[in-house]
Amino acid sequence: MQALQPFRLAPYFRTRVWGFNDLSPWYDYKTDGEPIGEVWLTGEMCSADTGPLKGQSLKEISVAHGEALLGAGRAGQEFPLLVKVLFPKEKLSVQVHPDDALAQKYGEPRGKTECWYALDAQPGAAVALGIKPGTPSEEVHTAITESRLEELLVSVPVSKGDMIFVDAGTVHAIGPGAVLLETQQTSDLTYRMYDYGRPRELHLDKSFEAMRLATGSGKMTPKKVDGHSILIDQKYFRVERWKGTTLSSENAFADVVQMVFIAEGKLRVEGRSFEPFALERCQLAVIPAGARDWKLVTEAASEVIRILPQSA
Ligand SMILES: [Zn+2]
Repeated sequence: MQALQPFRLAPYFRTRVWGFNDLSPWYDYKTDGEPIGEVWLTGEMCSADTGPLKGQSLKEISVAHGEALLGAGRAGQEFPLLVKVLFPKEKLSVQVHPDDALAQKYGEPRGKTECWYALDAQPGAAVALGIKPGTPSEEVHTAITESRLEELLVSVPVSKGDMIFVDAGTVHAIGPGAVLLETQQTSDLTYRMYDYGRPRELHLDKSFEAMRLATGSGKMTPKKVDGHSILIDQKYFRVERWKGTTLSSENAFADVVQMVFIAEGKLRVEGRSFEPFALERCQLAVIPAGARDWKLVTEAASEVIRILPQSA
């Protein structure tokens, strides 16, 4: 097996009606066209920006170097997690994602469980997460018909640094005022349940089939372990926060691909067998499962978010 060294991925900007025309100071990106709402960091169309794989897409790299990139247990599979930064300028529609079992019933490989880490939040920022306890399903139906579903949603205030778990089956909506780092199962399955009376298409039957009134969703309490915090450690992903400390191959998990995202500061990825490269705020590097002898060298007060899929 050919060794694969760490590399940076170029972000991929997706137009969304609810986004911004100018993403500064997060990204040096302005457009006169349709606004940008999502920046995909590990989409299959994102391409390597450094090293010998430069220019190849994550999909091509996953196909050509499956075991070296993803580990023996995931060779031949898609890249396991989709990481994005969300920039909502307006409130998004109310949605629900199916779990694995429901997705597979409709011929899809997997459902979509996700989490949001707040990179920033203005005072008053909130997300809708779940239906108020005790609400019967029929009442949800009636509220949609009468364009008043907001009344039944649980509003969760968001502060910078919060980690919010969004279990599959949770009715949810993102509001304006926060910039969120989203980690999710690689899946596109979203059912729109409610759009505040706006005219976009709804997927009511599937929404109700996917909806669960009791879920594990909510704000997570970080767990401090030596030198870092575990923000969430769940069935599909583990997300950690490293502040001003060195992260290196000594902290790696065996045979698992890792992603490092820079939330604050600037640093350099170095190793014995590859050209060092820089990582700036909001950039992401992939550390292949087979990579050895690498370390992150901090150039300023930094906050690094490390994202790992759970072992296959
Ligand atoms: Zn979602």
